[in-house]
Amino acid sequence: MSQQAQHVSIIEVGPRDGLQSEPEVLPTAVKIEFITRALDAGIRRLEVSSFVHPKRVPQMADAEDVIRGLPAREGVTYIGLVLNRKGFERAQVTGIHEIGMAVVASDTYNQRNQGVPTSESVKAWIDIARAAKAAGIRANVMISSAFGCPYEGEIPVARVLELVDQVMEGDPIELGFADSIGVAVPNQVTDLLGAVMARVPGVPIRCHFHNTRNTGIANAQAALVAGVASLDASIGGIGGCPFAPAATGNIPTDDLLYMLDRSGIHTGVSLEKIIATSQWLQEQLGRSTPAMLPKAGIFPQIAEKNRAAGGAV
Ligand code: MG
Repeated sequence: MSQQAQHVSIIEVGPRDGLQSEPEVLPTAVKIEFITRALDAGIRRLEVSSFVHPKRVPQMADAEDVIRGLPAREGVTYIGLVLNRKGFERAQVTGIHEIGMAVVASDTYNQRNQGVPTSESVKAWIDIARAAKAAGIRANVMISSAFGCPYEGEIPVARVLELVDQVMEGDPIELGFADSIGVAVPNQVTDLLGAVMARVPGVPIRCHFHNTRNTGIANAQAALVAGVASLDASIGGIGGCPFAPAATGNIPTDDLLYMLDRSGIHTGVSLEKIIATSQWLQEQLGRSTPAMLPKAGIFPQIAEKNRAAGGAV
């Protein structure tokens, strides 16, 4: 029987994963407006920035200023990405609600992304998780490249499960799996999540998909059927990864929300307002973004417009 959730939480990652990979560096005030617009659309959890080296990721150099400028809203959780203890300490000073840490399933990619082998990042996560708990900060962890590595190729499910066992020592509030380079396919998502949920029953699971090979939305559907608690997405489908060759954007919040709305899965987010934000974001970036809903329009509402226009579609 399907475990499919009737409610899923969308984690908006556009301000972090999205903007960190776009060539433009948006002004801090524009980033804050982006986040505020997402809140106004009904988003309640967001990755707002990352505390990484400003020389490596100059797009995120203003993390502290962004967080200082964010509106305080009831029921909203701001997440900051950290990759080591130093990043955590920067995050802690800002008063952020939640930190997210990433450990990469392959050593080669972990080394390129974080400068250390995976085992070192796992140790850092456990240390950070303890410090976060002591400071009253929520902490989640994401296993990156869980569906394939750009350097090492296939990642066996057994390898991911081994990492699951290790990171659970940090008692994360949520356990994430990222397809950082967009290679996953739905059957793989079903298999991996089935194995994970059997290994750590009751732990809220989050998935992070990229649409690099156009399988992102299909993977999101597979994750929903498996019973995930949260799905990452970025408004407009912006993003990628600065350290992964040819990575493209996250699954678009616009397109994901359309699928969820028409499937009767509750998110509390307004698709009209997400599309308006997506259009606003295109103006800020000065170019078109990958999301399809802003181009195609919402069905069935679009039918009314077509009727009023009187022409052939
Ligand atoms: Mg990503």
